[in-house]
Amino acid sequence: MEVPILDNHVHLEPRRGRNVDAVRDFERQGGTHIIVSHQPYEEARVNSSEDFRKSFDITVSMVDRVNSETSVKAYASVGPYPVELLRLEKKLGLEKGKEVMMGGMDLAADYVREGKAIAIGEVGRPHFDVSDVALKASNEIMAYAMKLAAEVDCAVVLHTEVGTEDTMRNLAEVADDAGLDRGRVVKHYSPPIVLPEENFGLMPSVLAGKEAVREALGKSSRFLMETDFLDDPRRPGAVMAITTVPKRTLGFIRMGIMTEEQACKIHSDNPHAVYGSAFE
Ligand SMILES: [Zn+2]
Repeated sequence: MEVPILDNHVHLEPRRGRNVDAVRDFERQGGTHIIVSHQPYEEARVNSSEDFRKSFDITVSMVDRVNSETSVKAYASVGPYPVELLRLEKKLGLEKGKEVMMGGMDLAADYVREGKAIAIGEVGRPHFDVSDVALKASNEIMAYAMKLAAEVDCAVVLHTEVGTEDTMRNLAEVADDAGLDRGRVVKHYSPPIVLPEENFGLMPSVLAGKEAVREALGKSSRFLMETDFLDDPRRPGAVMAITTVPKRTLGFIRMGIMTEEQACKIHSDNPHAVYGSAFE
């Protein structure tokens, strides 16, 4: 039986990184699917909403290359990266910066409608402390992203502060207010918070460390796995290798820590539930 293996969150760098070659490493280790998350690129700085098009197109083109040059099935997730608001605030002021971010959300929703992306993400709020006004603006932008996701009927991938109980409860409430099914909200870079009382119905995308995955499996198989691979050769070892999810999954199956049934749930059923029929 061939087990499907999804890395739910990787970044690929068209210029500095190994990009498609890195995905070939993933493929050799047994990986079958990846979600390529948008990130700001040095070569396509954003100063207006319309600038997001050029930037999103880089992510979409990486996905197209993976799909044509490897057997790995890749999908894009696009949206204004949360920390971008702070750069825009410095440059344009907070109000204008917020407007640009909101426009970027509209464009991200269009990409999903057009089938160029499978989800809006990663979006949310900075993972570190920011001013109260910047936090308020970030929350409004995030709520807007969820409202758009509900309209388009797609998932949203969140980048926020660490997923404590309070944070997860808060994010679930924002989703409810936006009319977005909690099950379509992915908490990226998540600790093994896989029980409903820990994640309030959001879908945790658990960092694929040995202990975290083992702990998650001990509770339930309702989670996704990711590396948040950064594809930055200038920072080797700063993040998990792109081979981690297939190695961890197949290693755990061999050792009897994960069953093939659990692997299928994590790498196929769960992403189907989150991303919908666009995920094959
Ligand atoms: Zn990321």
